[in-house]
Amino acid sequence: MRITAIHETTVPIASAMRNASIAFDAMTASALAIETDCRIDGDPVVGYAFDSIGRYGKGALLRERFLPRLLAADAASLQDASGLIDPTRAAQVCMQNEKAGGHGERPGAIALIEAALWDARAKAMGQALWRVLASDEGSTARTPTIATYGSCGHFRPGESLDGLKAEVNRALEAGFRLVKIKVGGVLPDDLHRIEAALAVTGAGCLAVDVNGVLEGSSGEAWLRAASALPIAFVEEPSSALDYAGLAALREASRVPVATGENLFSLDDTRNLMRHGGLRAGSDLIQVDPLLAYGVAEYRRILAFAESQGWHRGQFWPHAGHLYAAQLVAGFGLGSAEAAPDASLAWGGYWDDCPVVDGRITLPELPGVGFEGKRNLLAALQWWRSR
Ligand SMILES: [Mg+2]
Repeated sequence: MRITAIHETTVPIASAMRNASIAFDAMTASALAIETDCRIDGDPVVGYAFDSIGRYGKGALLRERFLPRLLAADAASLQDASGLIDPTRAAQVCMQNEKAGGHGERPGAIALIEAALWDARAKAMGQALWRVLASDEGSTARTPTIATYGSCGHFRPGESLDGLKAEVNRALEAGFRLVKIKVGGVLPDDLHRIEAALAVTGAGCLAVDVNGVLEGSSGEAWLRAASALPIAFVEEPSSALDYAGLAALREASRVPVATGENLFSLDDTRNLMRHGGLRAGSDLIQVDPLLAYGVAEYRRILAFAESQGWHRGQFWPHAGHLYAAQLVAGFGLGSAEAAPDASLAWGGYWDDCPVVDGRITLPELPGVGFEGKRNLLAALQWWRSR
């Protein structure tokens, strides 16, 4: 199995919404397609990857460093003993002559390449990716049915609390049972926002995302007030790399804390677990495999976490979409995050995959199954019409 061509492009996300820290009107994402000489029913196997939303496309890193290394590599150096492309080996080839540490946005570029090659490898094997991942771990207990939750409630110009309630209600109508909304880290406005959403979801079925803006005594006051309400968890209270600050804030929260979406490596996640004051029995880790070097690094993160008393059910990967859902099933993780709006290429799940009572059952499509979500597949096949 050899790579015959690689296509990458930057896709504008351009959405008039924002969270507590960034706006999305200039947001971009990378789309990647890797063609191979492997053929199934006469058609070449193509591996796809589509960025996680929120950290911009990785085009420069892909074009200048990682894709040239991949294309220059001897084909045998990318293969396992069976002759299939081994995504872990390919990622190692891409990482040649890269210093350790200082991970920057490199992990997202490597993860995209690794993800596209996992899609291709699983397609060549004729299996859904989650089955390949579970099999690699020797697990026979994993199933294609996983928990999911809906992430919405961004800030939009002129939107009222009624608009927020309507959006939360649409997520419930779409089948989600846990809905997460954005808050701004501001009292008392956030309490009004949370109470409005809780009136729709009911107690325990709402989570809030502060996007890292809390700090110090005012942050502790915010957490004491917000966590007195019946919310499921508070996401990313403090700056992603301020572990001591997070540890201090954690003491003020009466509900679980979820964080880690802006940590892109085992190095950073290990520091979070060592110094962030998180509670291994209840808090949630949201490291996003599509931003953090991918499958091989995630396995290392899980191994470290389990050595520290964490269990896989506490891993709720940020975004990552169809690919992350495959990893949630394949690794036996707690829940997958989804934007509820399936009309978006990066929203909803596969076309024939309804959310039922807060759960989905992954389709038996080979690979990630991008071919089962038409609007996303169109975004991944732009190069076919050139
Ligand atoms: Mg978040």
